[in-house]
Amino acid sequence: MRLQGKTAVITGGARGLGEAMARLFAAEGAKILACDMGEPQYKLDNVEFYKLDVTDGEACRKFTEYAAEKYKKIDILVNNAGITKDGMTRKMTDDMWDAVIAVNLKGVFNLTRFIGPHMEDTGGGSIINISSVVGEYGNIGQVNYAASKSGVIGMAKTWAKEFARKGVPVRCNAIAPGYIMTDILKTVPQELLDKFAAATMLGRLGQPEEIAKAALFLASDDSSYVTGIVLSVNGGLRL
Ligand code: NDP
Repeated sequence: MRLQGKTAVITGGARGLGEAMARLFAAEGAKILACDMGEPQYKLDNVEFYKLDVTDGEACRKFTEYAAEKYKKIDILVNNAGITKDGMTRKMTDDMWDAVIAVNLKGVFNLTRFIGPHMEDTGGGSIINISSVVGEYGNIGQVNYAASKSGVIGMAKTWAKEFARKGVPVRCNAIAPGYIMTDILKTVPQELLDKFAAATMLGRLGQPEEIAKAALFLASDDSSYVTGIVLSVNGGLRL
């Protein structure tokens, strides 16, 4: 029960990696606020679902007020909501660029600018930005996604410095997953997925629970001296 007594906010918590994290964190004793645009595909006693579009800054402010009032202290924030709109740079439209930046980059800022200070004021916390192997190495046809996922690494490193400035233990780290079997890969052709699997040192794609376990480490006090890092969880993939 490594998260006993803690409250965690997980964006994109309705499915995929967010759902895996919500399930594991709840099993470790946390109360979860799973924020998402879509309806969750699961129900658990310790998981409250909250409909939130992370691109809406005012809605993020109201959500933080609600969460702080109801749960008193938010201990963990996982900025996990993310989308892809892939295309070669020469064919990328403004809409494709703007949509990905709005969710994956501005969405992370929108919530953390309220919850980070809340953690500072209430004695500490752990913030986890979900980046990607694409944010570390870049990838053909994903300039918008790569920009956003490199961006959240910079944000994590900045917040690790900024929110701990007063001596309050607010830690902030990024996780860079490799290719993990969730709906986000639906649009990726199977032959490309096979190629990515073969390119890993372990010879396979990842499972959502393997990212959830890394997030549990960073969320819990097991990582009490870990901040400002990028934890790559990718089976040894180098793009
Ligand atoms: P999924 O597509 O399975 O889940 C993403 C969730 O985010 C969905 O429930 C989606 O809701 C939600 N979401 C999208 N836009 C918003 C928004 N504006 N506000 C709130 N919620 C939103 O993806 P994964 O679980 O695979 O991905 C989770 C994170 O991990 C993403 O940031 C992704 O970039 C990252 N990642 C994933 C990898 C993978 O291989 N799976 C690899 C590397 C990184 P809805 O669909 O209803 O809009």
